[in-house]
Amino acid sequence: MTGRRSGGALLAVLLLSGCTSFADGDPPRVDAAPATTQAPADPTACPAERAGPDPDRPVIDYDFRLADDLRTVTGSETVVFTPDLPTDELVFRLVPNAPESAPAGNGLVVDGVRGDDVRGGGYEAAGGAGPGGLYVVQLDDELAAGESTEVRLDFTLSIGEGGFERFGVAEGITWWGSGAPLLAWETGVGWARDPFVGLTGETASSEAADVTLTVSAPEQLTVLMTGARARPSEPRDGRRTWRATEPVARDVAVAAGPFGTAEQETPGGVLVRAGALVDGELEPAELLDQTVAAIAELEAFLGPFPYETLTVALLPDFGGGIEYPGMILEATPSRDVLVHEVAHMWFYGMVGNSQFRDPWLDEAFATWAEAVPDPPPARAVESAVDREGDVGGSMDQFAGDRPYVSAVYGKGGAALLAAREAAGPPAFDEAIRCYVDATAWSIATPEDVAAALADLPAAVDVLVRAGALDADG
Ligand SMILES: [Zn+2]
Repeated sequence: MTGRRSGGALLAVLLLSGCTSFADGDPPRVDAAPATTQAPADPTACPAERAGPDPDRPVIDYDFRLADDLRTVTGSETVVFTPDLPTDELVFRLVPNAPESAPAGNGLVVDGVRGDDVRGGGYEAAGGAGPGGLYVVQLDDELAAGESTEVRLDFTLSIGEGGFERFGVAEGITWWGSGAPLLAWETGVGWARDPFVGLTGETASSEAADVTLTVSAPEQLTVLMTGARARPSEPRDGRRTWRATEPVARDVAVAAGPFGTAEQETPGGVLVRAGALVDGELEPAELLDQTVAAIAELEAFLGPFPYETLTVALLPDFGGGIEYPGMILEATPSRDVLVHEVAHMWFYGMVGNSQFRDPWLDEAFATWAEAVPDPPPARAVESAVDREGDVGGSMDQFAGDRPYVSAVYGKGGAALLAAREAAGPPAFDEAIRCYVDATAWSIATPEDVAAALADLPAAVDVLVRAGALDADG
């Protein structure tokens, strides 16, 4: 996610604190260091290839129906869940009931739950607005590790006034991300029952799932959504149905509206689709060109783009962007914000994290990646690293959006840039590439970052000083 402050997150955060070095300076263009192919000293430290997804990951079938009022989505979600630890329940996070989302008219209600092993279900508050922030399905018996169960939830999503949010209706566009109950499992840990904290940042944790996504919408609307090569059915009874699959999606997002679209395949075979309102601030072809360029820029040091398809929907300008697997809700025509959200396809989409416990693992890394191709002056980076706040703080440790964004995005992105300089960019980029490949499609932890940087003590020192990593590793 990138906040409503315009421009790149790192830049915005420096401006926020009164430092205008990024804006005033004219930093020299520095080409991204390509990842080297040199073997690491310890062959066990860096995987020979990117890790694949867990074969026992959840299999989730989402079915959304956008009503003709463009504000109500009725849906169902069928989940086949195979835990790696014993459990007698399934916990779902109801993101639309977050306290910062509900006042605009957003809300998610579970209408029913079914399944051979299901005893019942109910809400838990978890700091959410009514009826609650979590929905918990109780099973008849404990499910053993490796044993599967299938559960179906029916739900109704209400979508309120458009704003810089995961849900909204504005200018004939309806969008929703995290609009269905989100399976809140973390492999090796268990259920994520973290409270909502009232900040704009994400607080969810969800494993990559094998997803099928179906969206029924009024036939005049174009649907842009998570999933590979989504295509519509023929119109029937005034509606069209769009269907796609994505074998490694932690969550899904949808935007339906009178979009014009443009699409192109990258040299690496990624299909990029860009959608924007006709006569809007950015033509679909311009948005497409920017997205294709951002992918190339980031692939140069992060390795191949994680998904088969990337879809970008340009929403009215509410001043930010929100990342979803293979899908970006781009709520501003800013190129810097777009690069940040594309970087999230690696950091959040592929390398997952608990966005409540370790928000820096996606936000500091996306802010860093956004800055690598054109780094700010060293002086500005140093002053950002010296700021207050622990980069590695959890979401409940920040008093508001301002200290959160300052520490996690601004100081965090700067600390990673400073660590890169301290270690030497080629060595640092190679270590991050190893971290990305080793933790792909899992939920990473700060310990994974520390392990990848173990041979680069100068980089670790910077991150310890910034409160990102613990001194004892
Ligand atoms: Zn972000």
